[in-house]
Amino acid sequence: MAINYLHPEYEAVRNNDRCITCRVCERQCANEAHKYIVDRDKIVCDDSKCVNCHRCVALCPTRALKIVKSGSTYKQNANWTDKTIDEIYRQAGSGGVLLSSMGNPENYPVYFDKILLNASQVTNPSIDPLREPMETRVFLGAKPQIIERDGSGRLVNNLPPQLSLSMPVMFSAMSYGSISFNAHESLARAAEELGILYNTGEGGLHEDFYRYGASTIVQVASGRFGVHPEYLNSGAAIEIKMGQGAKPGIGGHLPGPKIVGDVSRTRMIPEGSDAISPAPHHDIYSIEDLRQLVYSLKEATDYRKPVIVKIAAVHNVTAIASGIARSGADIIAIDGFRGGTGAAPTRIRDHVGIPIELALAGIDKRLRDEGIRDNVSIVVGGSIRSSADIVKIVALGADCVYIGSAALIALGCHLCRSCQTGKCNWGIATQAPELVKRLNPDIGYKRLVNLMTAWRHEIKEMMGGMGINSIESLKGNRLMLRGVGLNEKELEILGIKHAGE
Ligand code: SF4
Ligand code: SF4
Ligand code: SF4
Repeated sequence: MAINYLHPEYEAVRNNDRCITCRVCERQCANEAHKYIVDRDKIVCDDSKCVNCHRCVALCPTRALKIVKSGSTYKQNANWTDKTIDEIYRQAGSGGVLLSSMGNPENYPVYFDKILLNASQVTNPSIDPLREPMETRVFLGAKPQIIERDGSGRLVNNLPPQLSLSMPVMFSAMSYGSISFNAHESLARAAEELGILYNTGEGGLHEDFYRYGASTIVQVASGRFGVHPEYLNSGAAIEIKMGQGAKPGIGGHLPGPKIVGDVSRTRMIPEGSDAISPAPHHDIYSIEDLRQLVYSLKEATDYRKPVIVKIAAVHNVTAIASGIARSGADIIAIDGFRGGTGAAPTRIRDHVGIPIELALAGIDKRLRDEGIRDNVSIVVGGSIRSSADIVKIVALGADCVYIGSAALIALGCHLCRSCQTGKCNWGIATQAPELVKRLNPDIGYKRLVNLMTAWRHEIKEMMGGMGINSIESLKGNRLMLRGVGLNEKELEILGIKHAGE
C-alpha cells in the first residue's frame, strides 16, 4: 500500500448539534472535500482536499462549520518546520516545481508597519475634510521641466498625454483567463464609476469590455497575447510588462485547460494550447530596445496614450528605473515582492525581489538626484493593504498605487492561495461557468466602489490631520513620516527620521 506522507494542513470542524444536513457545504466546495454519507445521514469531510477558502463556512446556514489549522504536527524543530517537511514530501512524490499563488506570505519585515504618520498640533493647523476642500485628484505622465509662455504671456500647453484619476489608486493588472469574466466586469465598472483605471493584464481585452476603454490600461507582455492596433487604441494607456513582483525574472504560464472559449479568442491563441509568456521580451535586451518598443506603441497610437513600463522590485531597481525614465516612457510601475499572482513557483514568489517601500524610496531619490524625476510618474504596487499604506507610500515618493489583492478580497477572495488550481470557490480565479456565476458583478463592482470610497475618505482625514489639503503636496513629503524600530541603514534608504527625532 502506498504511504501518504502528508497530513492535512487544515481540518473542517463540524458542530453536529447545529448541522441540519442541508448539504450546502457539499455543493459549495469545488474541491469536493465535503461528502454526504447516505447510510449514516451524515456529512463528512476529507480534510486533505481543503484549501481553507472559507466558502463553506460563510454559506453554512447554521454556522456549524469552522476550519482550523490541523492539530497534527511533527516533532518540534525550529529549523525543519512542518511546512518544510511537507514540501519535501510533496516534491519527493511529484518531482515537480511547487506552485502557489497570490502574494509572498513569508515573515519578512513589512516597512509600512514600521512607519508612522505625522499630525498637526498648535501651528500649521489641521484641516477638517468635512468642511474644507481636499484634493485627491492626480495626473500621471511626464511633466515639463519648465513652464513656457507664448508672446502674449499665455501658458503653452505642450504636455505629453496625461491620465487623470480621482484618487491615487488604480486596479492592477489581472488578465482575463487568470481571473473570471465577472471579476473583470466588476473591476471595469468600478473603475469607470470611480474615475480611476483598471488593467487588462496580459490576456487581451474581451470584446464586451471595449466600452470601458476610457477606464482601461491595456497591457503588452512578452507573450503579446491579444495585442493588435484596435486593442492598443482602445485603452487610456498602454503598459509594457517587463516584470512582476510575484515572480521576477521568470515568465508566465496559463495552462491549456484554462484556454477555452472567450479566453482563447481574446488571447488570439488556439483552445487548449498553453499560454506561455517568455521570461524576457525577445526583442528587448537593453534600454535602447525598450525605447524602441515604447516609441513603436506611441507611434501606433498617434502619441495620444501614455506608455507605462512595469518592472519588479529587484536588487538594482534604482538603476533600471533611471534607464526607463530616459527611455521615453511616461510612467514607471514598480511591483514589490508581496504582489499577487494567479500562479507562481512558490520558491520564486517567496525568495526573489525586495520590499516595495525600500525600492520606491531608492528610485524616487535616484531620479531626483539625477534631475529626471519629472520625466515620469511612479506607480507602486505589491500588497497595498489600506488607505494608510497609500498615504505612506505617496509620502515616500509615489504618484499613485496599484491595488490587486485588496480588490480581490473586496470581491470575496479569502486568500487561500489556490488560484493556480482554477477551482476558486468565490468565482474569481476560475473559468468554470458554475463557479464564475458565484460572483455577481452587480454586487462585486459596488463592493469595490464602497472600498475605494471609504479609503478616499480616510486619505482625506489623514491628509487633513497633517494640515495638507492636496495629495500633490504629500508626494515625497518624507517629513510627514517617522520610523519605529528601524536601523540606521533602513532609515537612510527610506530617507526618514526615527520617531522621537
Ligand atoms: S452547510 Fe452547515 S448545516 Fe449544512 S450540511 Fe454543511 S455543516 Fe451541516
Ligand atoms: S476548500 Fe473551502 S469550501 Fe472546501 S472544505 Fe475547505 S474551506 Fe470549505
Ligand atoms: S482568488 Fe480565489 S483561489 Fe485565489 S486566493 Fe482568492 S479565494 Fe483563493
